[in-house]
Amino acid sequence: MKDILQDLSYSQTEELVLTLGEKKFRAKQLFDGINKGRRISEIPGLSAEFRAKLTERFEDCPAEIVRTYKSADGTEKYLFRLADGNIIEGVLMKYKYGNTQCVSTQVGCRMGCKFCASTLNGRIRDLTAGEILSQVLVVNALHAEGKIRGVTNIVLMGSGEPLDNYDNVVKFLKNVTAAEGLNISARNISLSTCGLVERMYDLAEEGLPVNLTVSLHNTTDEERARTMPIAKRYKIKDILDACTNYFEKTGRRYIFEYSLIEGENCDARHAEELVRLLKGRPCHVNLIRLNEVKERNLKALGDKQAYRFLGLLEKGGLSATLRRQIGSDIGGACGQLRAGYLEGGEN
Ligand code: SAH
Repeated sequence: MKDILQDLSYSQTEELVLTLGEKKFRAKQLFDGINKGRRISEIPGLSAEFRAKLTERFEDCPAEIVRTYKSADGTEKYLFRLADGNIIEGVLMKYKYGNTQCVSTQVGCRMGCKFCASTLNGRIRDLTAGEILSQVLVVNALHAEGKIRGVTNIVLMGSGEPLDNYDNVVKFLKNVTAAEGLNISARNISLSTCGLVERMYDLAEEGLPVNLTVSLHNTTDEERARTMPIAKRYKIKDILDACTNYFEKTGRRYIFEYSLIEGENCDARHAEELVRLLKGRPCHVNLIRLNEVKERNLKALGDKQAYRFLGLLEKGGLSATLRRQIGSDIGGACGQLRAGYLEGGEN
């Protein structure tokens, strides 16, 4: 595989331009073009010779949209093809306040969560910072429509465990928030983790106040380990301590994701335990309807019971919401589109 130009920061782009024998101001032209989601071949004003040097060394399009699924509610899901032929998926959700894009950080995942389709075939490879950024750049360009930004918010909730690809993810966060680049505020970015505790401490030191989201999905270590193997390595107590540290270091409230799985994690007892664990903390609980994965035998909780569970959390004094289901007419996310595509089906 060739190098990825989108991996480079602005100052690295300046160095590159000089190494290739061009004037320094070309860096701005190149960086602007890249950040507008253009291919090297589409950036205006570059000489044929410079373009040839660039395309010899760098991928012209590190993440190309090969399929788009549009929902009646405006949600769009994409399959991207990477330069080595691997396929990843992403989603754009349209809200009143802006457009939120969900990006992938790895091809596949090795965390093994029982409810998730991304992990069915394990982790194929990490994405580079530029491959993560390229997903945003091409979707941003599609939706910019004359505005500076088509994507206003980013969630790292596609395929992969962001903190299992730590260095590349942090580099991506630095580049996407950089003033010379897309300049998306860290406050508009959420990183979701299954709870890799040491890396949660590391993230708190990066000076990037992104929103931290933790996939909890159960209330005791034993029960959590039934659907999340990572629970054998990291205890809920240690995850909560890492969240406290994150809040102290960044001033950011944190969020827990809790996907409601019938018979697994949503009895009245679980609601009581959640209240006991989380009450008084500067946090929010996001209840999620399970996207049933056909390879797994897990069932979503019915709507009525889901609202009852939400009511118990609120009565216990927690800030909680049941996430609105969007884009359900165009197939699930969480790795299901890619799995369907690789099988040759349409999902
Ligand atoms: N690896 C990160 C990002 C995962 S995706 C993490 O574990 O947080 C974002 C969220 O979707 C996580 O909370 C994940 O547990 C959840 N999720 C995965 N598959 C799901 C499914 N089939 N239905 C509902 N939520 C799912």
